[in-house]
Amino acid sequence: MEQISKVCGGVAMVISAHCMTLSTIMAFGTEEQKKKYMTPGCKGEHILSVAFTEPSTGSDPKQLTSTAVKYGDKYILNGTKRFISNANWPGTILVFAVDSETKRPTAFLVDKWCEGYSISEPWDKIGMHGGMLLDVYMKDILVPAENILGGPGMGYPILQLGISYGKIGVCSITIGAMLAAYEEALRYAQEKMHRDKPISKFQAVQLRLASIASLYEASRWMTYRLAWLANDVKDPIQFAKEAALTKTFVGETVIDLMRDAMAIHGSYGLINDYKIAQLWRDSIVAPQVEGVTDMQKTIAAAVILGAI
Ligand SMILES: Cc1cc2nc3c(=O)[nH]c(=O)nc-3n(C[C@H](O)[C@H](O)[C@H](O)COP(=O)(O)OP(=O)(O)OC[C@H]3O[C@@H](n4cnc5c(N)ncnc54)[C@H](O)[C@@H]3O)c2cc1C
Repeated sequence: MEQISKVCGGVAMVISAHCMTLSTIMAFGTEEQKKKYMTPGCKGEHILSVAFTEPSTGSDPKQLTSTAVKYGDKYILNGTKRFISNANWPGTILVFAVDSETKRPTAFLVDKWCEGYSISEPWDKIGMHGGMLLDVYMKDILVPAENILGGPGMGYPILQLGISYGKIGVCSITIGAMLAAYEEALRYAQEKMHRDKPISKFQAVQLRLASIASLYEASRWMTYRLAWLANDVKDPIQFAKEAALTKTFVGETVIDLMRDAMAIHGSYGLINDYKIAQLWRDSIVAPQVEGVTDMQKTIAAAVILGAI
């Protein structure tokens, strides 16, 4: 994902959302669910989605308004989901809705394009072009009870672990953009001439290059460490803390790194023909997705203080 994002963050975003859903089904699915929903996803025949965010919130599960009303051995799903990646592609969408029995968020495996499923036009976002963001409308979608992931009322722990996996994706995408910006800044510093010498002769440019190199390396190691921790999650709460801290660091660092890379480019960085302009637009997405930065700090502090 790091290498794909180096070229196109939007495409990496598609893969990130897809893999986050696969990992969540892997962690909580029955053997039957894994076989049925993961196999076409792993073969690339399906592109999977997660639908948590709604018009009123992307941070607070208690504010979910989508409903799942029990109807015999089925549930009827209604509601609107906002900013959903990959909602246009065929495959499974993991929908979070408050079910009528437990009154808590429950995760449902739903077939995209089933009866009652429709989507909006893509949102016109600032960056990550190529990765589409759509609203999902659910109108009386009938889902068998066997499509519940992890059991009724288990939506919150599922979301917590799933979104922690998702942070590996977002961080990987971000370090890919950092690497591309690093290379662009270095190349520009060596090619742009002032008085017959490249601008890399200026100490101010050298300091920015060194800063970019260190910020990239630190972010990269933290991301790889998080991915390594994900291979064997013993305590999902501690893992959520590590994921929150990593995403916070990488999401804040990329802004600093891009500022240095832009500064080296001077006004050319503001011109859309230059790749750094695209990287700048893409990078602003990282602090806002898979949990906004301030919420990540709140979660990490709560775990550190033993409040959750
Ligand atoms: C490129 C992209 C891809 C996305 N893909 C998906 C996807 O596939 N599936 C999906 O479900 N969503 C997706 N989203 C949505 C995204 O995850 C949410 O928009 C994000 O979590 C933020 O939610 P929000 O915008 O509703 O912000 P809010 O939750 O409304 O937060 C707004 C502000 O209020 C602050 N805030 C909120 N609650 C608290 C609190 N309790 N204490 C203190 N401060 C608080 C936040 O820190 C933030 O600064 C995507 C978004 C983008 C841009």
